[in-house]
Amino acid sequence: MKSTPITRVVQQIQATLPPGVLLLAAAKTRSLAEVEEAIQAGIRLFGYNYVQEASPIIQALGARAEWHMIGHLQRNKAKTAVELFDMIETVDSLALAAQLDRHCAAAGKTLPILIEINSGREDNKSGVFPEAAEELVLHISALPHLRVQGLMTLGPLTGEPEQSRPYFRTTRRLYEHLGGLNLTNVSMQYLSMGMSGSYLVAIEEGANIVRLGTRLFGERSR
Ligand SMILES: *Cc1c(COP(=O)(O)O)cnc(C)c1O
Repeated sequence: MKSTPITRVVQQIQATLPPGVLLLAAAKTRSLAEVEEAIQAGIRLFGYNYVQEASPIIQALGARAEWHMIGHLQRNKAKTAVELFDMIETVDSLALAAQLDRHCAAAGKTLPILIEINSGREDNKSGVFPEAAEELVLHISALPHLRVQGLMTLGPLTGEPEQSRPYFRTTRRLYEHLGGLNLTNVSMQYLSMGMSGSYLVAIEEGANIVRLGTRLFGERSR
């Protein structure tokens, strides 16, 4: 596998990001050494898809960066997720939110979360459908240990970045709508959308967290 000279790549990408857009490194399958290299290159935000994969890395490097959960979170992993992560980007049900709230109460902390939107309304994908998001956020607003800080979406995977634009736009409109409701414990500050192929389109549509894997680290070998 070809390794990416990550410092140069990070500088190149940072130069294209408007002020206020955060670069999150999607670190699935990457080694501890690669994550450390990314920290040395200036990355301060990492995303993991699985609690088990994140756990040893966060235990080793925890204080040197921020850690977001960006994969579907199973309820039986909620307790460990509350201990490990600074933010859960993928809350998509009241049952999961209630579980997280309970574990936060026990741990005496409040947890920033994003609501994952299934912007393509795909049956096989996680995330709440756009039309169901408001009701979900209303219910989560009543949970005292969670802070809804924005929305996250993947959108249908297409080869063509431009094809992602309508899904990003749908999510952005929802973000603005929900922000305008002025709900307790809800403040729309983060819009996490766009991956290696689509992040420039996502930024045009208002993303302020972009999640990059292959663009930073190179192709995944597994
Ligand atoms: C892997 C992953 C990314 C990054 O994908 P790349 O195409 O490698 O940039 C972004 N978001 C999520 C949720 C991911 O699982």
